[in-house]
Parts: sequence; C-alpha cells; structure tokens
Amino acid sequence: MAAMPDRLILAEPRGFCAGVEMAIKALTWMVRIFEPPIYCYHQIVHNEWVVAAFERVGVVFVDDISQVPEGAPVMLSAHGSAPQVVEEASQRAAVVIDAVCPLVTKVHHEVRRLAERGYDIVYVGHRGHDEAVGTVAEAPHAITLVEPETGLGEFQPKDPEKVALVAQTTLGMYEWEEVLRSAKEAFPGLWTARKSDLCYATTNRQSAVAKLAELCDLILVVGSDNSSNTQALVRVARERGVEAHRIDSAAEIQPGWLEGASAVGLTAGASAPDHLVAEVIERVAPRFGFEVLSVTSEGEYFPLPPQLRGFVTVLQTVVEAGLTARPPTEPGWLDRDREWTAARALELIGT
Ligand code: SF4
Repeated sequence: MAAMPDRLILAEPRGFCAGVEMAIKALTWMVRIFEPPIYCYHQIVHNEWVVAAFERVGVVFVDDISQVPEGAPVMLSAHGSAPQVVEEASQRAAVVIDAVCPLVTKVHHEVRRLAERGYDIVYVGHRGHDEAVGTVAEAPHAITLVEPETGLGEFQPKDPEKVALVAQTTLGMYEWEEVLRSAKEAFPGLWTARKSDLCYATTNRQSAVAKLAELCDLILVVGSDNSSNTQALVRVARERGVEAHRIDSAAEIQPGWLEGASAVGLTAGASAPDHLVAEVIERVAPRFGFEVLSVTSEGEYFPLPPQLRGFVTVLQTVVEAGLTARPPTEPGWLDRDREWTAARALELIGT
C-alpha cells in the first residue's frame, strides 16, 4: 500500500462486549454438544466473519422459526426474540437455548411492565433491526417506534402524563440525547430508565471514538453493515468532522483513504473479532507504529444461558465418568467460563 500514515491510534475498549462473548461461547457449546445441523434464529451476532465461521461447522441461520425442522436444536440470537418466536421455537425444537444479552432482556422487561401500567411507550430504535423487532413485539399495542434521526415526529399519546421513552441498546449517544431532550420538553412527566437503555459497551466504544476524533484525521471502524453499534461509531466520528469508514476487514481499505492521513484511528464494533483489527494494523502499516488510547476498562461478564449450563454440566459428568474423576477442589468447565474467551471458542471450532 503506497500511502503510509505516521501513526495509528487504537481505541480501547473496542470489539467484543460481554453479550457477544456469551453468545459466541454459547453457540460454540451447541456445536460441541449436538450433532449438526444446529439452527440459530437470526445471526448469532451481527458480524459477517463470525456467522461464516459458524456456518462452516454446521450452524444454519434462519430468519423464520418455521425453517427449523421439528426436533432440531435451536439457539436464539443475542439480539433478543419476540415472545411468539420463543414460544414457537419451544413447540418445534427439541432444545431451545436463548442467547439473548441480559441487557436486552432488561429492556424487554421494562416494556412489558410499562405497558401493563398503561404507558404509551416511545421506542427509539432502528425499524427492522432484530433487537427492535423483538422488543416491540413485547407490547405492540402500547409501543410507537421512532427512528433516532427523525425523533418524535407525529407521536400523540392518549395521556401526555403517561409517556415512557425506551431505547435500543446500541443507539448513538448523541442521537439518543437529542430525542430525550425533545421528549422531556413535550412531556414533562416523561418516564425513562435512570441510566438510559444504551448499554455500557455502546457508550464506552462511542466515548473512545469521540476521543480518537480529537487526534485523528481518518477513523476506521471494523464491523458489519447490519451492526447497529458499529454504524453508530461511524456516525460519532463523522459528527465530529472526521472522515470515517466502516470495513468488514482489511481488504476493504481503499488506498485513497490513507492519502494525506497522518494519524489513523481504529476501533471495532461490539461483534467484530480482534484478529480482524490486527489485520487492519498490519495493512495500514503506520510508519511509527501504533499506540492505544484507553478511556476506560471493562470487566463485565455474562454467564452462559441457564438452559445451556445444564447441558454443559451433564456433558462434563459423562466425560468424567469415563476418566479419572475431577478432584472436588478443581474448577469445572462452568467455573472456568469467565476465563474462556469467545476468541478461544472461535479457534476451537477451527476458524
Ligand atoms: Fe449486550 Fe450491549 Fe453487547 Fe448488545 S452491544 S450484546 S446490548 S452488551
């Protein structure tokens, strides 16, 4: 590549969040426990590379639960599924494991509770996104979906004193704040979650990109087109006047982007594997190497779905029955799950 920037600044945190870690490890366990094909309702996480890796080992991704053959094992994606989908899956499949992120589940609970209490709920999200579809389905009669870019629009509640504002977890912080401000003005008694519904991973990655934008003249964001939090990272950079591009991999970098760029910022959406980031560093090949800009550290951990933990325990018991029993003081597979990363899980399935 002809143009060679002086520096590359790597955002921290970036890449896999706790929900994605859990979902990838959960689907890896499914591959280890059950004979393929294993079905997954919606892409397990919105990343082209991760989805292709699982397809190679016999996972079939479907967008309609009726495509799952009767009696097959099925996993539900990290973005959360509509109650009707969960119900239909449990009717058809022999085993249903729901890999929904607990932070999405929290919003589902919020929506159900608010609808029961008679609120008109405004849901700020992207129409057609898997997470938005699943959340709205919790109480369609009580929800109005609005896009973050267009805001409240023509929304008219039955009772202006009973309006709630709820959000997709992966929105852009500034877009959310804009809608929040106008909703508070229009409805002074507005109910909204104390810390907003935007998840820690979304806000941390966006804060890091905002810092990158102060130092860089080009920002590259690794992640797939259908990843909402990835797209939000690109928008945060562009809002600050910095040229930014989303790429699935290093191969998508156009040489012209690097012409005249002295400092290149690099980050990754919450579902993008870190080895793709490493390949981008190699491709950009900054003259003076790379440095890390860290805005915070993350220690969040989400355990495997409860239904899956039961299977893992049974599998371990069966394996140990044929071998020397594990001493009671030695941790079992589930005890070690926190140390076992999604990156290692992906290596295990041969990617
Ligand atoms: Fe959960 Fe946030 Fe990750 Fe989505 S981006 S899976 S809500 S932690």
